[in-house]
Amino acid sequence: MIEELSGKISTVLGTITPTEAGITLMHEHVFVDGSCFQSIPNEASLKTLIQSEIKPELIKHLAKHWNLISRHIKLNDFNLMHNELKNFVLSGGKTIVEATSIGIGRDPVAVAKISRATGLNIVLGSSYYIPSSYPEYLYNMSEDDVYDQIVKDITVGINDTGIKAGLIGEVGIGGPISQMVNPNQKMPEEKVLRASARAQAYTGAPMIIHPSPIKESLRKVSEIVIDCGADPSKIVFAHMDIQTDLDVLKTLTKQGFNVEYDAWGIEDTELIDSSDDLLQLPNDNQRIKHVRKLINDGYINNLIMTQDMFLGLQLQKNGGKGYGHIIDNLIPRMKNFGFTKKEINNILIVNPQRILTFK
Ligand SMILES: [Zn+2]
Repeated sequence: MIEELSGKISTVLGTITPTEAGITLMHEHVFVDGSCFQSIPNEASLKTLIQSEIKPELIKHLAKHWNLISRHIKLNDFNLMHNELKNFVLSGGKTIVEATSIGIGRDPVAVAKISRATGLNIVLGSSYYIPSSYPEYLYNMSEDDVYDQIVKDITVGINDTGIKAGLIGEVGIGGPISQMVNPNQKMPEEKVLRASARAQAYTGAPMIIHPSPIKESLRKVSEIVIDCGADPSKIVFAHMDIQTDLDVLKTLTKQGFNVEYDAWGIEDTELIDSSDDLLQLPNDNQRIKHVRKLINDGYINNLIMTQDMFLGLQLQKNGGKGYGHIIDNLIPRMKNFGFTKKEINNILIVNPQRILTFK
């Protein structure tokens, strides 16, 4: 427990009391560089697309070639992001978690500036994303070094900015950790995961994990974080839309973890071009039905709804649904599905508030 943070939410502009948070998107990206995903094609005609603007005639290709066009996997234009977030404020949004961790363009100064410009509370992340985004130096850091870095980000500030991280994550797991770990050689994700979980235990900070979707990996990851003394009630498993077997989610929530539906608005099946059952993304109506089922079974206090904005196609400027999609489109739809105002507030206000508040 850190006394000056305990009972507070830590934003890039300082601490706030939990009740100030209002409607909160628990997992977004405001300034992010997804170069780690970029594929460079050999074909001449596709190569010319790399530096392309996102033009209306390209929209139909964006899902299939999502990691080809640089501007599609990078959110980095201040005025553009200011407009997008302003729209979220106009919809009634109050708080955003900028879950951009180190290695994918985390930008504390720009985030603080956009928080001032929009009036939004913004909570910024620490720790590292998936291995393909790791900076070279991370391979030479020990688990203790990573732990020290995360604790410093939270208690002192990021680099020399004085801007503090208020969250650990998103912590990326690239693959099925238990299958990748050679008994003699720990995979780097495990070092980062253990350091992150220990930092959670020490600081009482909230934490978001971007796991591999493989069930065995989820089990292994939950075992590791509990082994490190972390508090499951402060930990969110992201990207759980993909788990259409709801028992997988129930196993996590029974242990006290929170589960996150965060691909709202993404209904294009080409984005995950796979026939593998494990990689089938439901649409919004299917997601709403899954959330309803989990509520009926008693799991409302462990549910998170957010949008994980990361791609150009999600921005309103490019014809996407924008950061306000849940507020503008889904709250009315959920009411049609029989959700009460209290249930909606529970998911969009009460749960994020509880998780974001330092122990
Ligand atoms: Zn993620």
